[in-house]
Amino acid sequence: MKIAVSGCLLGQKVRFDAGHKRDDFIMDALSNHAEYVSFCPEHLAYSSPRPSIRLVKDQDKPLEVRSNKTGENVAEALFEASKKDLESIALHNLGGIVFKSKSPSCGMGSAKIYQDNGYCEGKSDGIFVVMCKERFPLLPMEEEGRLCDPWLRENFVMQLFAYESFENFKLDADMNSLVNFHKQNKFMLQSKDEALYRKLGKIVGNHEENAFEEILGEYEFLYKTAIATKSSIGKTRNVLEHMSGFLKKHLDSEEKSMLHEQINDYAAQITPLILPLSTLHLYAKKYNVRYLLEQVFLSPYPKELALRSDIKCVK
Ligand code: SF4
Repeated sequence: MKIAVSGCLLGQKVRFDAGHKRDDFIMDALSNHAEYVSFCPEHLAYSSPRPSIRLVKDQDKPLEVRSNKTGENVAEALFEASKKDLESIALHNLGGIVFKSKSPSCGMGSAKIYQDNGYCEGKSDGIFVVMCKERFPLLPMEEEGRLCDPWLRENFVMQLFAYESFENFKLDADMNSLVNFHKQNKFMLQSKDEALYRKLGKIVGNHEENAFEEILGEYEFLYKTAIATKSSIGKTRNVLEHMSGFLKKHLDSEEKSMLHEQINDYAAQITPLILPLSTLHLYAKKYNVRYLLEQVFLSPYPKELALRSDIKCVK
């Protein structure tokens, strides 16, 4: 999987002070499963070190990028560099983007916007993020600041791997394999958005008998929209209960009650998600419940990432 990442998070000395912001999760954990494509529009525009900049937006005037040293509007160079970086990362078959938070270029909803008088008016997307969202509307994107939150990290990593799985699947898809893909992703999709899961089911049902290319296009759009939504403890609990229903006829009353206790403890944030999931997995294997064993939700990303072991990893 190829992920575009703000160069400073990769340890490259491209910040205004010629420093970096190496991110441990990106460099030490995710790097074992992804190849990185770096970008830094500000380094490309102004080199490093350079005076810091800020975004200024006053009423109907166009957005300005002001040098904090000279007050000069240096927007043109940054827009040009951002376009070049965008073209450069677009050459790769990207599976996601990770941005550096709070930057005028890379902040995702966290770039400060100032008024002419120097007051901060609020926060928005940085210049490069706006361009990336326009160019790749369904691509998984997150900023590193939010990845410090275990719940958001779990959601983003799940989205990255779900996105990659669809990209691989669609290369050789037909109607039968789509039905199967939907079946295997049932609980993962339900943990994200039940309504979208149902809509996806209708697309796969194809009662209008549309052409397969049309169905696949509709499915892709809704699937990628669904995997971008965040799960919640309530939705995850429902999914766990639903999965346990497939074991009903195999488990004795003691096993059932232990599984339900684990699900309740997870919902009360006493134990991490991995606990009830491991038990479900174990019973599914023991009783060879194929429907459960084939579910993406049981292992949506490489287990070495161990995100589900964090007690705060689903809210
Ligand atoms: S936040 Fe973006 S523009 Fe700023 S140094 Fe990092 S990569 Fe470059």
